[in-house]
Amino acid sequence: MAKVVSFSNQKGGVGKTTSCVNIAAQIANKGKKVLMIDMDPQGNATSGLGLPKSKIKNTIYDVIIGRADIKEAIIKTKFKNLSVIPATIDLAGAELELYDLEEMPVNFTQIALDSIKDEFDYIFIDCPPSLGMLTVKALSISDGVVIPMQCEFYSLEGMSQLLNTVKKIRQLYNPELQIVGILLTMYNGRLTLTGQVVAELRKYYSDLLFKVPISRTVRLSEAPSYGEPICYHDPYCKGSLEYAAVAKELQLRI
Ligand code: ADP
Ligand code: MG
Repeated sequence: MAKVVSFSNQKGGVGKTTSCVNIAAQIANKGKKVLMIDMDPQGNATSGLGLPKSKIKNTIYDVIIGRADIKEAIIKTKFKNLSVIPATIDLAGAELELYDLEEMPVNFTQIALDSIKDEFDYIFIDCPPSLGMLTVKALSISDGVVIPMQCEFYSLEGMSQLLNTVKKIRQLYNPELQIVGILLTMYNGRLTLTGQVVAELRKYYSDLLFKVPISRTVRLSEAPSYGEPICYHDPYCKGSLEYAAVAKELQLRI
């Protein structure tokens, strides 16, 4: 049965998509069967895997509103063991529709996910940069959540907000939701501020921090424009080795 892990942080540009795509590809490349679900209307994770628009027939939006069978929305990528359910901009409209759907007795997404869990080892969900209905839905159907964050002052404020959301989701929908870990991204150890933020994080969330932070590197930022996860784009670069270490730790944590 697949473990379902969301990558979430209400802030944009903190490395959610980069982490989701690269960890998914890394674990798949090492032999596990992995499905990545793009839950962000911007569709960055979809394009980061080099999926041509012409290949997309059904998206996660069709699954959420019960219009398509989830099996028809799954696309095999050219990368080993890695499949994806893509997102396109139509998902932006779902945020509002979901408020109505939430009132319905059936949760299409949960039912759909349950029907494919025995086909994968891991299902990773890339969340949008908000704590709206799409994120609530993703967290409600997840076993765990990874929180990517940058080492900035405002990140600390955002963290308590996000942890509150996790608490609420546990109370309302999903008591088992586990925080898999906080992942430091775009890390630059030479900056004083970075050191201060990391010290704060260690004080409050030491158990939650992944051991290896992800450095800020050009290779990681250019890989999506080639439509390639880093473990294919440049397998032995720093960013690739760091994501490999994090992927290993993630599997031990959940
Ligand atoms: P989010 O999904 O949280 O909005 P992204 O993963 O899209 O964040 O990252 C935001 C931007 O930062 C993207 O352009 C991405 O390529 C870049 N980026 C992410 N991680 C790194 C990194 N470790 N080093 C350099 N650039 C990065
Ligand atoms: Mg993103």
